[in-house]
Amino acid sequence: MSMLSAARRLAGKIAVVTGGLSGIGAAVAERLLAEGAYVVAADVSAPDRVPQNGAAVLDGIEPVRLDVAEEASVAECMAAVVARHGRLDILINSAGIGRDIPFLDTLAAEFDRMIAVNLRGTFLVGQAAARHMVEGGGGAIVNIASVAGVRGSRGRAAYGASKGGVITLSQVMAVELAGYGIRVNVIAPGPIETPLVAAIHGEAIRRDWLRQVPMRRYGMPEEIAGVAAFLCSDDASFVTGHVLAADGGFQACGISMP
Ligand code: NAD
Repeated sequence: MSMLSAARRLAGKIAVVTGGLSGIGAAVAERLLAEGAYVVAADVSAPDRVPQNGAAVLDGIEPVRLDVAEEASVAECMAAVVARHGRLDILINSAGIGRDIPFLDTLAAEFDRMIAVNLRGTFLVGQAAARHMVEGGGGAIVNIASVAGVRGSRGRAAYGASKGGVITLSQVMAVELAGYGIRVNVIAPGPIETPLVAAIHGEAIRRDWLRQVPMRRYGMPEEIAGVAAFLCSDDASFVTGHVLAADGGFQACGISMP
């Protein structure tokens, strides 16, 4: 960890990171912990039974089971976190699924599932968290979208639509929640080396990305975590409704380079 990231900007804060047991979410969870927050990693892959007394805390991060696509699971999980810890200050929505499917071949059920997890899940968890934050007097929410939510990439009809929806949803949340002291921001990552990407990026897709990304590499989960920590810290106290590209220059790029 660099000297800069050693700052404990989040001391005493209670944070929930959805999708916090893998990839970007796991890196965010570790970074928030390093900055002083108490971190709950809420993930569908967490064991079904997690002791309520903190005994399951692993390396300082508490795993809890949450399916963001299930309304009851969201309500139960968020209420349990607030009951155990008394408040909720930070929410990072990183839970998500992704798959490339050509538009003409996308089944309605595949489209629905992508929307249910990525967009409706962000809505459900964000709404539940924000209701607790209103009671607590404020908070910070960071939603992980994607460059696919702002550009029409091949194969991303369902995924891109879900992420575009996350961006607009976040902007509305930022506007409506500003008066409650709740900031809502978005990170739009480019390609990041995670288990999700390892599963869906073949050699040809990797070549395409490296041609389009001016920095000529994939990002690392820790490079998204640093941005998330900034956005939920007081260093970003006047930042809300912002979509921050963390993509090696992808969105800035016009005519692609040789
Ligand atoms: P990942 O597969 O490594 O991690 C995603 C996590 O979300 C997993 O732990 C998984 O169990 C969890 N999850 C999936 N469905 C869930 C559900 N219904 N309820 C609760 N948890 C659920 O993926 P990642 O690459 O770290 O992606 C994290 C987020 O970043 C996703 O929203 C993804 O769309 C976004 N993103 C990733 C990239 C990339 O290149 N990796 C780029 C842009 C955006």
